[in-house]
Amino acid sequence: MASKKQIWVRNVPIGGGAPVVVQSMTKTETANKQATIDQINRMAEAGCEIVRCAVPRDEDVVALKEILQVSPIPIIADIHFNHTLALKAIDAGADAIRLNPGNIGGPDKVAEVVARAKEKGTPMRIGVNSGSLPKHLHALEKENSVEALVTAATEFVALMESLDFDNFKVSIKSTNVPNTIASNRLLSEKIDYPLHLGITEAGTKWSGSLKSSVGLGTLLADGIGDTIRISLSTFHAEEEVKVAWEILKALQLREKGPVLIACPTCGRLQFDMDTVVQEIETRLEAYDEPIEVAVLGCAVNGIGEAAAADFGIAGAKNEGVIFAQGKALRKVPTPQLVDELFVEIDKSRAMGGKVEFDEAQSAEGMEFIRKIEEENAGDLTPEKLAALEAEKAREGEDFTGPELPMVKPVVIDEAASPQAGRRFARN
Ligand code: SF4
Repeated sequence: MASKKQIWVRNVPIGGGAPVVVQSMTKTETANKQATIDQINRMAEAGCEIVRCAVPRDEDVVALKEILQVSPIPIIADIHFNHTLALKAIDAGADAIRLNPGNIGGPDKVAEVVARAKEKGTPMRIGVNSGSLPKHLHALEKENSVEALVTAATEFVALMESLDFDNFKVSIKSTNVPNTIASNRLLSEKIDYPLHLGITEAGTKWSGSLKSSVGLGTLLADGIGDTIRISLSTFHAEEEVKVAWEILKALQLREKGPVLIACPTCGRLQFDMDTVVQEIETRLEAYDEPIEVAVLGCAVNGIGEAAAADFGIAGAKNEGVIFAQGKALRKVPTPQLVDELFVEIDKSRAMGGKVEFDEAQSAEGMEFIRKIEEENAGDLTPEKLAALEAEKAREGEDFTGPELPMVKPVVIDEAASPQAGRRFARN
């Protein structure tokens, strides 16, 4: 379950009830100072709260020291194999160190790094990756990879505790989504330290975002995970940051900027919705307020399910309607819908979030919607079907099919089918 302990990476709290933190990693050569700084700035602009930089050579440490002076967000030095680089990165003022205690040259070297981290107050992320488990766990890995990952992580935690060090968070990474979910669930039951979540080598922007959303979203919905990184095969690290935020916003764990609602479109669509949604999404990136903006492909259902949105448009062939808070603001020629929507959003921003309705224009807009609704009254649109089903469900009626025989609820025999220690627990 959610971690009890909290650590601080520079000014960012992680775990112990703090908001889930968005992380990412630079893709530049760290020694290329300007490129790395530029990328960090773009990531921070997109909402990255902590950045990790690869430090595989001495020249990277030298650059890191200077980058740290100008970085708007804390930097974690990512170290593998070479414990002296970890020591140098701590001395350079890294806000945290990420290392895998299993590949840094043995417990003595780990102890040396921990001693330096304690001296400087530097937190650590200790990570276990499915591809690099310690040798003694290889047999277990073949038998049960989840147990092997969790065993490695808890062994590293025990090693840290034996060194009287508790200023760390833990990550278990796997390319396998079910294994990531299962191992983090199991680990969260065993330790109180903050957990960093990620699906390693998730893939392209499309497939990697989906894999990460499923894996991380499942854990976050369970209350597991204190910081997340989306790993995508793109040089544009800010894209990872945007995906991370969308996951947190979708779960309503954090708020950041606008939320876009768009109908899926269907055969009733009356304008070029793809282009319009794309344009609105891009233009909304410039806004910080958590406003909800809805885009409806037609006005057949009225404002319908988008009534709760702060702003929206319902398009039609030649004219559409801009609405706010469930009420039409005004009718607008379709080609001007997007521009005029943003005129209204900006006006409201300037008035501290208030919306002013011109009663005559609003009435004209509502009448326009009413007419379209009336003309299409017989259409069973997806939204009307959903509304009817909801109404019937409230009345306790079975909406669609014929009467079905009552099905007995399934009672699971816990003795025959135990769930303790399973990857996926039943409720
Ligand atoms: S009926 Fe619904 S899904 Fe179809 S275009 Fe209109 S709003 Fe979109």
